[in-house]
Amino acid sequence: MKAVIGLEVHVQLETESKLFCGCSTDSEGAEPNGNTCPICLGFPGAKPKVNRRAVEHAVKIARALECDVRPRFYFSRKSYFYPDMPKNFQITQYEMPLALGGRLLLDGRSIGITRVHMEEDPARLVHVGGGISSSLYTLIDHNRSGVPLVEIVTDPDLASSREARMFLEKLGLILEHLGVYDPGREGGLRVDANVSLEGGQRVEVKNITGFRAVEDALNYEIIRQESMANMGIAVERETRHYDAETNTTSTLRRKEQEEDYGYITEPDLVRIDVDDAWISRLESEMPELPDARIQRYVDEHGVPLFQAGIIVNTGLDLSRFFEECVGLFPEPGMVANWIVTFLLKSLNYEGIGLRESKVRPGTFVELLGLIGEGTITERLARELIKEYVGTGESPRSLVERRGLASAGREELGEAIDEVLSDNRKAVADYRAGQTRALDFLLGQVLRRIRARGDPVEVKRLIRDALDSE
Ligand SMILES: [Zn+2]
Repeated sequence: MKAVIGLEVHVQLETESKLFCGCSTDSEGAEPNGNTCPICLGFPGAKPKVNRRAVEHAVKIARALECDVRPRFYFSRKSYFYPDMPKNFQITQYEMPLALGGRLLLDGRSIGITRVHMEEDPARLVHVGGGISSSLYTLIDHNRSGVPLVEIVTDPDLASSREARMFLEKLGLILEHLGVYDPGREGGLRVDANVSLEGGQRVEVKNITGFRAVEDALNYEIIRQESMANMGIAVERETRHYDAETNTTSTLRRKEQEEDYGYITEPDLVRIDVDDAWISRLESEMPELPDARIQRYVDEHGVPLFQAGIIVNTGLDLSRFFEECVGLFPEPGMVANWIVTFLLKSLNYEGIGLRESKVRPGTFVELLGLIGEGTITERLARELIKEYVGTGESPRSLVERRGLASAGREELGEAIDEVLSDNRKAVADYRAGQTRALDFLLGQVLRRIRARGDPVEVKRLIRDALDSE
């Protein structure tokens, strides 16, 4: 059975202050309910004002997703009763959102973006001593109340859990490039996933954090709906909760219809006009986006497309790292190849990301320089990179400290002469046409120079020496 998936992605915008008041959005280390005021606590009579920076971030997101930004938008009240919102409504956008009708390209396939709108985050509920249904009691922290969010709603264009994850990874990368979102922030991107099997009722799985968790939740939900259909039980339209611990979903509430929220226009906020000049200025401030960056690596640096894709798609950190390395060591092909083929593998082995590692552009290109100037062989460099990634030690000092520099011409010449005069039988065998004898002689020479040489090059020198004897 074919799955039909649409996502609602809530992104926390990186701003200093909240969406409708001046309270700080930075609550790390803050007292619970410390970053609050009558506006974000929702006191009666409080007068919200719109954060201009948040609107600008949202416009950039909308334009990056090729949406039409509406010339005028306004906010609405979404009424509901829940402890995370004491004023009993959330200020969001409904009838006239910020932007409509965009798309995101995923491997050449166009995923429709229905709308992009802004809204305030509700308070955070802290369930003490258990999960949402098993906790002893629940605490409310309003530091999160009023933090600016953008909600990105897709058309039901995604066909599998895997595709949903790929969509989120690409969206996250675009947002990171725009500088409006911090991928390191806990819960900075939360997803509600709508999923149905063709012809069946739609189920919404709420509030999933993490791309992998979205894929897992959808996998569970698709299998659940399939087995129900196989048993002839109708899937009900409802909202479900995803439990990452058990990797299951469970009924939260029967799905309410949008009309149940009783939307009304927010009377305390004015309508906002977004003129063309403002949009053009914001567009001119927009940085290069991931797809353009990949193309630039190919066009300007001659990096193979698949390597450019891996570097850019791994994250902005790695793109910046690549560009800094190329600035220091202008051989982009070699830099890209060593990043993709060996650096990422070693980081993976250490189980760390580039950001947490001790790898720096200056020392990384040192390793490439050592190969380029012939101080070490490529083969040795492949070994050394593991140690370098683990310790961050300068490859040049590593080579000096351990005496790993390749044997020089003179040392190599002496070693070959000695081996040839000590092994006359092998020399005679070689002359008699036994090619295996040459490999034996190569082994002897490499042993004498403690493998500090390129076997192919050493073999060539031995052959030359034999031919000139
Ligand atoms: Zn406030």
